[in-house]
Amino acid sequence: MIKDNIKVLEEEISSICNNCGRHRSDIKLIAVSKTQSIENIKQALLAGVNEFGENRAQELRDKSELIFDNINWHFIGHLQKNKVKYIIKSSVLIHSIDSKKLAEEVKTRAEQNNKIQNVLLEIKTSKEATKFGLLNEDEIFSTTQYCFEAPSINLIGLMTMAPFTNDEKIIRGSFTQLRNLFEKLNKNGYNLTELSMGMTNDYRIAIEEGSTMLRIGSAIFGERNY
Ligand SMILES: *Cc1c(COP(=O)(O)O)cnc(C)c1O
Repeated sequence: MIKDNIKVLEEEISSICNNCGRHRSDIKLIAVSKTQSIENIKQALLAGVNEFGENRAQELRDKSELIFDNINWHFIGHLQKNKVKYIIKSSVLIHSIDSKKLAEEVKTRAEQNNKIQNVLLEIKTSKEATKFGLLNEDEIFSTTQYCFEAPSINLIGLMTMAPFTNDEKIIRGSFTQLRNLFEKLNKNGYNLTELSMGMTNDYRIAIEEGSTMLRIGSAIFGERNY
């Protein structure tokens, strides 16, 4: 089942890429495995996926200690400062730096672990109160500059979540806002390469708007049971 879902999804992603003149190889598929069992993760691995995303710190830590296959773990959820220590060893990329204080903690923990931590800044592009992310442009620029100067942090791009709606114009607006900000930062010399945007319900629009990382859960594993 999971294998079939991945096959269908891959075909869909490739066809969207073809239609908008992009290459499939420029986009990373991250299977969002939050709440999923180790068994389900292994099925996705067997189907050729090796990037996985988790949104809870202890869950990422526990799963990364139980599976020894070659997995790239992505942390994609809201991260409390006191939980950075759980994920710093195993995360290839933290998508959700949403404050300078959090960046400071990541810098310290990365130093302690002798690693250079790849990160993205999470940007709030929707008005939904439940969503996290940097909003204010001064704050975005100062956090970007902070990450740029921190030796144990490698800032490679931006992440956002579009609002939960069927209104395609609103979703697209959220993604173009992220891409415009990305271009603006790059004009200031920051050299960002990654745009993490697109989930099960909006990945087609995200690909059209330049996404380089899709975070997809339900389309791979089915509806989640919390
Ligand atoms: C759960 C989650 C996803 C995946 O959501 P689906 O709709 O199941 O594809 C993507 N990004 C984040 C930050 C999430 O928490």
